[in-house]
Amino acid sequence: MFKSKELETIQHLCENKDPLISTNVLDTINYKNKDYPIVSFSIGTKDKTAPVLGLFGGVHGLEKIGTHVVLSYLSSLFYQLKWDRDLRELFSKFRIVSIPLINPAGMAHFKRSNPRGVDLMRNAPVIKDVENTIPLISGHTFSNKLPWYRGVEGEMEKESHALVDFIQKEIFPSKVALSVDFHSGFGLVDRLWYPYGYTNNPSIMQPQIDSLINLFNNTIPHHVYQIEPQSASYGIYGDLWDYLFDEYMKHNPNGVYIPWTLEMGSWNWVRKNPLQLFNIEGLFNPMKDHRYNRTMRRHFLLIDFLAKASRNVTNWNE
Ligand SMILES: [Zn+2]
Repeated sequence: MFKSKELETIQHLCENKDPLISTNVLDTINYKNKDYPIVSFSIGTKDKTAPVLGLFGGVHGLEKIGTHVVLSYLSSLFYQLKWDRDLRELFSKFRIVSIPLINPAGMAHFKRSNPRGVDLMRNAPVIKDVENTIPLISGHTFSNKLPWYRGVEGEMEKESHALVDFIQKEIFPSKVALSVDFHSGFGLVDRLWYPYGYTNNPSIMQPQIDSLINLFNNTIPHHVYQIEPQSASYGIYGDLWDYLFDEYMKHNPNGVYIPWTLEMGSWNWVRKNPLQLFNIEGLFNPMKDHRYNRTMRRHFLLIDFLAKASRNVTNWNE
């Protein structure tokens, strides 16, 4: 197995022997004769109808900070589970499921795409009419030499398959599910996006989304996020979360599932430290220690809030 800093941390987390934690290698990507595992974690009850929070990162290999936030949260959680009896009790009726690094070979080789040049966030079965598109950026099928390449129509890449299968198995059976996929690289503020990415029309889940936003704004009034549908920034072909959101509603029409995407506004890090412009990682990740540490901390509040909201759905979904 290839060793990157992120894969080493994942391996370290896998060594936790706790009956509440299970780990799995969902698939392995072979690139240049090295193996890169896609690893998942499930924490809590084995009852898959229980409320669940999903934490995902590393869809885009250059956006290391997203994977770091998820790994940092899981490390802290695994440590707390060793001493916090109340927390263990909560997990008897609740689950957190996670794939912290969906595109491990891309991350190891400083690529946004997977090794085959496919932008995984544009690789789901395509909904034809996409609104508010930006040429190339919204996804295209011209060439895998260009960024934002969607891949071959109708063929999902191994990494996308691993994510979709995992969500179908671990999230679809749940009556109430929330998830966050951590990204970075667009804009000056941290945007919290909800579906859809392909259209400005609201989904049938919009009342629940509005109610959760209201709960968040009142519970954490000074939060840092700009909350909006993904399509408000730009439309996307083949957005994996649009696809999974619609599939969940077909599978579980009485359930609630809201997949969030957190787009950390990395232009702010570049604005404050312009030297980052000369480093490809610097365009997507904070390079100064204090800014990196602040990023690690600031999203824990959001994760804890969503965990609580999923356990207390009857108090906001009325
Ligand atoms: Zn991204």
